[in-house]
Amino acid sequence: MARIVMKFGGTSVGDVNRIKNVARRVKAECDRGNQVAVAVSAMSGVTNQLVNYCSEMSPLHDAREYDTIVSTGEQVTTGLLAIALQDLGVTARSWQGWQIPVITDDAHGKARIAEIKGEELIRRMEKGEVPVVAGFQGLGPDNRVTTLGRGGSDTTAVALAAALNADRCDIYTDVDGVYTTDPRIVPTAKKLDKITYEEMLEMASLGAKVLQTRSVEMAMKHGVRVQVLSSFSDAPGTLVCDEDEIMENALVSGIAYSRDEAKVTLVGVADQPGIAASIFGPLADANINVDMIVQNVSQDGSTDMTFTVGKADLERALKVVKDQLKVPYKAIKSDKNVVKLSVIGVGMRSHAGVAKTMFKALAEKGINIQVISTSEIKVSVLIGEDYTELALRALHTAYDLDAA
Ligand code: ADP
Ligand code: ASP
Ligand code: MG
Repeated sequence: MARIVMKFGGTSVGDVNRIKNVARRVKAECDRGNQVAVAVSAMSGVTNQLVNYCSEMSPLHDAREYDTIVSTGEQVTTGLLAIALQDLGVTARSWQGWQIPVITDDAHGKARIAEIKGEELIRRMEKGEVPVVAGFQGLGPDNRVTTLGRGGSDTTAVALAAALNADRCDIYTDVDGVYTTDPRIVPTAKKLDKITYEEMLEMASLGAKVLQTRSVEMAMKHGVRVQVLSSFSDAPGTLVCDEDEIMENALVSGIAYSRDEAKVTLVGVADQPGIAASIFGPLADANINVDMIVQNVSQDGSTDMTFTVGKADLERALKVVKDQLKVPYKAIKSDKNVVKLSVIGVGMRSHAGVAKTMFKALAEKGINIQVISTSEIKVSVLIGEDYTELALRALHTAYDLDAA
């Protein structure tokens, strides 16, 4: 007998029939003699709709009320799934984040889980009951509902698996595993049998939305075995696990892309000590994350400084620079039509030439690289957004990742 957390995403619970399908999957797991807890997302499209309502009501709305509103999608699916399970003869009960509770910090809209009180759920699972837990929701220190950031139900599921001491956390979604790159953009993408926590963390944080980044951090920290699989087929999924469980590390295991970045260039700033600090200090103080940075060679004592920030932060970043930069500059330019492509693989640690292959493949397609950044297991480049698909396909082929 095993204890399993099963998580179903928005498409998997997209309508009443799909929820009935989920109930059959949960029942099958119970029939195998396992203890099961379920975490669910809102029906696909519902959270977007709720977010839009907030913006329509007031562009600069209160974050606490935002959470009150956007957390409701998950409440509906917990109740519906509990009913569907009961109809199949499975004892089931819905649980909202505040009822368990899932305790978080006070960062409304992107709260972090501090603790999940799992005792009551365990007691009930041991008696054969299936808890159906609302993903995405928590309870803040001010006793108000919080939400965990978009895609946060993955994190609920992994945190629940850690709190319940589960043997496995199965993430059911609309693709049957983690692929070498987004299979909806590159049809030749290959499904991976296994991927390391580290690589999955990079893939997620560099844009692969299949798992929320924090869910992977959480799985890594607590050693939760996560499996990604499809709720629409019985194909084997992808296991996220430790490096020593994988026999041979590919040089590059995956390619991710993110359209969430925007580029800012400061033209003609003085090339002198303290310049970087005077630009990036005020941005950091304003809680704006700067990702990639490049400084050009100086000509006549002045230089161009280019960096990227999240698209959502662009206007704020421009204002901070304009209002607070103490050093002279000639002009400030920005560009939202960019995409960041990243190749990821733990094999890079011990092999040279990964970046070279990337640059050559992009050059052959006539694609200009605007900014580059690297770490031990990834190389990222910023290119024009129009080239996203062309570049992804070219890189996929260049690293020999295409399915046979
Ligand atoms: P859910 O609603 O189940 O949480 P998501 O839409 O959040 O589903 O995540 C699944 C989607 O992630 C897939 O439909 C796919 O387009 C996208 N995706 C991006 N990169 C990858 C990848 N490397 N492997 C698999 N899916 C990916
Ligand atoms: N429903 C939330 C969202 O759309 C959480 C999730 O689906 O993981 O972001
Ligand atoms: Mg998701």
